[in-house]
Amino acid sequence: MINDAHCHFFSTRFLELLAPDAGGAVAVSSRLQWDPPGTSTELGERWIVELDRHGVARAALIASIPGDTVSVAEAVARHPARFVGFFMHNPAGPDADAALARSLKEHRMRAVCLFPAMHGYRLDDERVERVFHAAADSGAAVFAHCGVLTVGIRKKLGLPSRFDLRLGDPLALARTALGFPQVPVIVPHFGAGFFREALMAADQCPTIHLDTSSSNSWIRFDGGQTLEGVFRSALAIAGPSRLLFGTDSSFFPRGWQAGIYEEQQRIMGSLGVSVADRHAIFAGNFERLFPG
Ligand SMILES: [Zn+2]
Repeated sequence: MINDAHCHFFSTRFLELLAPDAGGAVAVSSRLQWDPPGTSTELGERWIVELDRHGVARAALIASIPGDTVSVAEAVARHPARFVGFFMHNPAGPDADAALARSLKEHRMRAVCLFPAMHGYRLDDERVERVFHAAADSGAAVFAHCGVLTVGIRKKLGLPSRFDLRLGDPLALARTALGFPQVPVIVPHFGAGFFREALMAADQCPTIHLDTSSSNSWIRFDGGQTLEGVFRSALAIAGPSRLLFGTDSSFFPRGWQAGIYEEQQRIMGSLGVSVADRHAIFAGNFERLFPG
């Protein structure tokens, strides 16, 4: 069984919000050589066909720009047994508290996604504490992108990306997360370059989980490191119950990134990870955090 803890829902509204002067979602899609997403219902159906094709039971769909929760909510409402709604939130943005409450309560999203390097705030900021309070009230998780942040689509469209990578510090996240033992926390891509800090944070704070998603190309910053070595350390420190498999799949026609799954299964084999632990990483932990 496979659950994918990290997929992006690149909806029509997402493309319109991301590049408002680019002539609309169809024009942006054609520039990117992507299939236009169509309505959120259509995009959700496409994801279902894709997940079925690969035997993926459930997937987290991330609304990947503030203001796009509605798109993911529409897809989740049609397939509540298959999709789990995550949304990007900017606690430093206008009307942040109201937007947060709407996404959690009205649209019933199950994880708030923070990108501090993109939006310019610290993870031990009082505004982040408010996010944790709201997550605790709604039984939601907090996902916090740490480390290197490159947004492929922004690059391709030539959008400015003046990110402050210092703000994606897992240790600052741990400081806040320790105050909210009921809120599960997810750090994607093993901390994306702040691997040592992510392990220290996970060691200090038992609610911190690491997602395994993407090609993890950040390992090029970590001299001599391999993905196998990353898994070995993460298993030793966070343990199998705090690793969540994810792919970081995002657009069509590329679709679900089966190669990520195959590589990570191969690594599990070479590390001699037990069947039970593999089940936890590829499906069970996601099920525990986001019961269907
Ligand atoms: Zn991602």
